[in-house]
This record gives sequence, C-alpha cells and structure tokens, in this order.
Amino acid sequence: MTDAPYQFFSVEVLRTERVTPSMARVVLGGPDLARMATAGRDQRVKLFLPRPGEREPVMPDPARADWYDAWRELDPEARGIMRTYTVRELRREPNELVMDFALHGTEGNGAAGDGGCGGTAVDAASGPATRWARAARPGARISVLAPVEEENAGYDFRPPEGTDWILLTADGSAVPAIAGILESLPPGMPARVWIEVHDPADRQELPTKADAEIVWLTRDHHAPPATVDAIRAAALPGGIPYAWIAGESATVKAVRRHLVAERGFDRKAVRFSGYWRRGASEDHLMAAAEAA
Ligand SMILES: Cc1cc2nc3c(=O)[nH]c(=O)nc-3n(C[C@H](O)[C@H](O)[C@H](O)COP(=O)(O)OP(=O)(O)OC[C@H]3O[C@@H](n4cnc5c(N)ncnc54)[C@H](O)[C@@H]3O)c2cc1C
Repeated sequence: MTDAPYQFFSVEVLRTERVTPSMARVVLGGPDLARMATAGRDQRVKLFLPRPGEREPVMPDPARADWYDAWRELDPEARGIMRTYTVRELRREPNELVMDFALHGTEGNGAAGDGGCGGTAVDAASGPATRWARAARPGARISVLAPVEEENAGYDFRPPEGTDWILLTADGSAVPAIAGILESLPPGMPARVWIEVHDPADRQELPTKADAEIVWLTRDHHAPPATVDAIRAAALPGGIPYAWIAGESATVKAVRRHLVAERGFDRKAVRFSGYWRRGASEDHLMAAAEAA
C-alpha cells in the first residue's frame, strides 16, 4: 500500500447495523486492534475477504514486507479478495473498527452503477465486498491491512497552510471519507460539500465544527450525475480553495476538469480519487493499473 508502517489484522464481526437503506455498518473487533492507528479523514485500508464457504480469507505470510507481491503469488482463485475501504471510526475502550459499506447491486437496496446509494435494482453487477457486507454476521472473520502509526501515507486530504475554504464532493462510496474529513476540520472553516445519492433516505447526519454547507443531491438511476451541474451553478467563496473529490471515476474527472479548467483552481489544490468505475470491479482496475 505504502512505505509507511502497516500490519495485517485478523478481525471478526462484532455486530452490524443499517445506517441508511443503502449503507451497511460493520463493527469489527480483535485482540491486536490496540495496535491499529488511523489518521482519521479519508484513511484507507485494504480489506481481505473470504471466498464463499470459507471461514476466513487465505492470506500471505504476514512476515513478508512485500505484502502485495506475496498476496499476488497466491492462487488468484483461492487468495483473499482484496478491496479498498475507509476507516469510518477506530474506537478505544473497547477497541472497535467501524467500516461503512455502500451497498450496490441487485440484492436489496442499491443498484450497480448507482454509487451504492439505494433505489430499485437496474443492473445485475454486485461485488464480493458488497455481498459480504450484506450477509455479515457476528463471528465472521476478515483481514485488514491497516497502519500502525497515525501519520501514514494512506490518506489524501491534506490541505496546505493558508487554505481559506474547502470543497468536497462524493457519492455513497465516499460518504465514510467525507464524514471523517468533516470531523477533522477546524472550527469555523468554511466548507462547501456536495454528496450525490439516489434516495433521500440515504442522507446522514455528518457532525462537524466547520462552517459547512452540505448539499445532498438526489437523482434517478437513469439520470446523468448531478454533481458537476450543481457546482457549476453555485457561487463559490473567494480566497484560496482546497478541493477533495471522490466517487465514481467519470464524475470525479468531470468535477476536477470543471474546477481546474473553468474555475481556475490550482491543480495541486485538487485531490481527486476514483473510488470505483462503472462496469469494472476493483480486480479489473488493479489489473489495468499493473498492465499500464
Ligand atoms: C480509497 C478508497 C476508499 C474507499 N472507501 C469506501 C468506503 O468506505 N465504503 C464504500 O462503500 N466504498 C468505498 N470505496 C469503494 C469500493 O472500494 C468499491 O466500490 C469497490 O469496487 C466495492 O467492491 P465490490 O466487491 O462491492 O464490487 P466490485 O467487485 O469491485 O465491482 C463489481 C461491480 O460493481 C460496480 N460497483 C463497484 N462499486 C460500486 C458502487 N459504490 N456503486 C455502484 N456500483 C459499484 C463496479 O463498477 C462493477 O461493475 C473506496 C474506494 C477507494 C479507492
């Protein structure tokens, strides 16, 4: 993942809850969670999920420093399924890791290609992480590759000193990250936030001390993404901005293009990350990145 210190943690599901119709929360526990650390904000970790019928994922030798090569050397049909998620919260006393999964696909709420945000099913493609989160029960085991130091390379939200205001955009998959970022902002920091979901019931309370104006956009599955148009129509504050954009890749690119090309944002002040791509699983994206 990075050169910062990371460790594999074997954890088990303690309990689950539905935060909203399309957001499943899984609370995980484990004896060595005391060693896990997080920077908060958009701290990412790698989850390793068991295959159907297995009790826990097949993992590489934890002693190997080159964990990614070690995982890749395992049989692709047998090794744990790797997915990238955000630490929603790392609690102490007791030690608990909270992860939120935007549900997409046909089983229940959410639809593939919808940002994991609810509504009727229109497309068959769910994914193993989503299926795992839907079915997770206390006692189910997964592994997590996570930092053991608060300052680590696994987060992107790093506004430079002198930033006057913050712009954030997300779909359902990046709501956990936006929640962490909003919690991290200093009191009174102006923030303009756009979050796109399909169902008004998928809105959440996002506590922050910042002076945040949060716009929840809702749209039909068949309609084009609404985030760019909403930002285009908005009067933005003056001063030096810092933008953090995440969600479906094409929307992320369009928002970035708008901010840099049409609004004149300094490109170094725009952090952007495609959290998923329509029609491509994370395995496909990893394979494409390696081939490139
Ligand atoms: C840094 C980072 C942090 C992330 N944090 C979170 C998080 O905290 N919570 C979270 O829910 N997601 C998060 N994601 C997104 C998540 O990793 C992807 O959505 C992942 O593809 C889900 O895996 P899967 O096994 O369910 O689907 P995959 O097997 O990867 O994909 C199967 C199909 O589902 C589609 N698909 C994938 N994700 C979505 C989606 N969200 N909505 C609609 N269709 C989709 C794909 O296009 C594909 O067609 C994060 C991604 C990154 C890069």
